Amino acid sequence: MFKDKRSKMIVLVAHCILNQNSKIDGCAYYPGPIKGVAELLMSAGCGIVQLPCPELMHLGLDRRVDRQSARTIEAEDTRVARLMSENAGRSCCRQIAEEAAYQVQEYLKNGFEVGGMLGINGSPTCGVETIWAERQEEPGRGVLIQELVEACQGRGVSLHFKGIKAAKPGEAIATTKEMLWSLAAQ
Ligand code: SF4
Repeated sequence: MFKDKRSKMIVLVAHCILNQNSKIDGCAYYPGPIKGVAELLMSAGCGIVQLPCPELMHLGLDRRVDRQSARTIEAEDTRVARLMSENAGRSCCRQIAEEAAYQVQEYLKNGFEVGGMLGINGSPTCGVETIWAERQEEPGRGVLIQELVEACQGRGVSLHFKGIKAAKPGEAIATTKEMLWSLAAQ
C-alpha cells in the first residue's frame, strides 16, 4: 500500500512554527512561518503535521488579556502559563495530544517514518527542554508536550521531541536538520 509519490516521512510541529500569527501578542518573530525551519522541512519532502495551537484554542488569540492593563510579555506569559496548567487548559492539551498520538500510531502502523515533534522552548505549553513559569524560563516540559508524551506511551508508540525558538534561527535550523537527518537514517 501507499506506493505512490508520497515520501512516507512525517514530522509533527507546534502550530506557530508554520503560523506565527497564532503567537501571544508581542511574541511573533516572522510574518508567517519561521522561514528557515519551514524551508528545510519543505525541501526535505516530509509531511508536516501542524498541531493546533492549544493556547489559541483554549484562551483565544488574545489569550483573554485585560486590554486596559499595563502589561509586559513576561507577565502575560506567566498569566498564560497559569491558565494552561489549570484543568481546562490541560484538558484542551490532552485532546490535541490524543489526536496527534493517534496520527503517529497510524503512520507508524502503516510503515511510515515519524521523525519526531518540534516544539517551542520557553513556552509553558509547547516547551520541550524549557518552559515559562512564574516570570522566568526554566527547565521542563510544557503542558501539551507532557500530555503528548503520555498519550504516545498509552498507545505504545515512541516519539522523539526537540525544542526550538523563533528568536534563535541558527539553533532552530541546526535542531531541525538534526531531526531530518535522524529521519533519513531510519
Ligand atoms: S508555542 Fe504552542 S501554544 Fe504557544 S503559540 Fe506556539 S503553538 Fe501556540
